[in-house]
Amino acid sequence: MRSTWQVMLVLAIAVAAAGCGGSRESAEAVSFPAIDGNAILQHTKILSSDEYEGRQPGTKGEDLTVAYITEQFKSAGLKPGNSDGTYIQKVPLVGITPDPGTSLTFKKGSRQQVLKFKDDVVAWTKHVAESAEIKNSEVVFVGYGVQAPEFSWDDYKGADLEGKTLVMLVGDPPVPDPADPAKLDPKVFGGRAMTYYGRWTYKYEIGAKMRAAGILIVHETGPAGYPFSVVQGKVTEQFDLVTPDKNISRAAVEGWITLDQAKKLFSLAGQDFDSLHKQAVSRDFKPVPFGVTASMALQNKLRTIDSRNVVGLYEGSDPKLKNEYVIYTSHWDHFGIGPEINGQRIYHGAKDNATGIGGLIELARAFNNLPKPPRRSILFLAVTAEEQGLLGSEYYAVNPIYPLARTLAVINMDALNVNGKTSDLIITGLGNSDLDDFAQKIAGEQQRVVKPDPEPEKGGYYRSDHFPFAKAGVPALASGG
Ligand SMILES: [Zn+2]
Repeated sequence: MRSTWQVMLVLAIAVAAAGCGGSRESAEAVSFPAIDGNAILQHTKILSSDEYEGRQPGTKGEDLTVAYITEQFKSAGLKPGNSDGTYIQKVPLVGITPDPGTSLTFKKGSRQQVLKFKDDVVAWTKHVAESAEIKNSEVVFVGYGVQAPEFSWDDYKGADLEGKTLVMLVGDPPVPDPADPAKLDPKVFGGRAMTYYGRWTYKYEIGAKMRAAGILIVHETGPAGYPFSVVQGKVTEQFDLVTPDKNISRAAVEGWITLDQAKKLFSLAGQDFDSLHKQAVSRDFKPVPFGVTASMALQNKLRTIDSRNVVGLYEGSDPKLKNEYVIYTSHWDHFGIGPEINGQRIYHGAKDNATGIGGLIELARAFNNLPKPPRRSILFLAVTAEEQGLLGSEYYAVNPIYPLARTLAVINMDALNVNGKTSDLIITGLGNSDLDDFAQKIAGEQQRVVKPDPEPEKGGYYRSDHFPFAKAGVPALASGG
């Protein structure tokens, strides 16, 4: 734990002191106060104890966690990070629970295929409404559902898809490398690494842009990066940000179907799954109308809550440059209480991400022990609802307390290294920002090596709180445990 920490710490100073284009005050880097690994462990133990009930947003676990982080930020010498004089940024969330007694029906003439909720299909609506449905909506297969002008790729070819139900494949189109067909072409999408076009969140966003009524992704374990059981976890209450249009611009129904059911759907349509799957890995692919209709009705239970980001400020020493910010992010939430897994009903989330919060607190304390603060200000941001889809960080990126134009860097900590000493510093999404250069340099000074994510095909870069900032144009770095 400690070895990784030293890298992150010195990196912090390098970034804070040098920022973008300033000269580096290396003397500060050498004198950064030590971090107490045992203190991180203590925070981790408390936050992951039974009493904190797995830190689910909107529960007693949230109240305890938010109070704990606020107290710790205060005692670490941080000022209230919100401009309203508090340590809290409210994050309004809506919780939507679909009624599981529903099903999805595909119909062609007199033949029909019924998919059972949870077993065969997991679907939901993001509409903040008591109900949502698709009714006799025409099914169209749109391949990977990608529109990527930079790769001259467009799976839609101008087709009118308003009101239709789109069936899409998961992941990026796996285009073979012309030089070695056994490999993926690194010049088209990310090669082996997943790009944002491969993420399910992108698929629902582009489908909404096409004004589709329904969007169903075909689940395949390899390209998705996780089994269908993970998708089935989404049949309980799902939280989302409350947007001004109540998400009515999204498709009415979003979801996943199993590979088995997808194959049955393709044969109902008189199509062959494997051959269309192959055709979809081509720039010439065009949407394929199935002559099949889809119907599904969702009934929702709704509730709104104000969850909370906790935010503390360590003010910079330069009268001008202190109006520029480096943000450390770490999510405080986990999955709360649920069905028993390995004899446990409380999902404690010690590594993910009590360790990150412990690190954030001790990092704040170390900054406060500096003889003189760095020139720029440091914001410590403990965000909510990461596990619900990066909601706390997304909320901050859309409603920043300090302008993003003056936010020079974001460094995210989602699960610290708990495997003992290491000489590697793994950067998830290596190559996405010039913060990598700082990390490389400092790691080198410590005889450490920066390494890329060993499993880039799982799209880890898009799955934690640095990403909403990166999407908004702020250089963001993530190093996992
Ligand atoms: Zn996490």
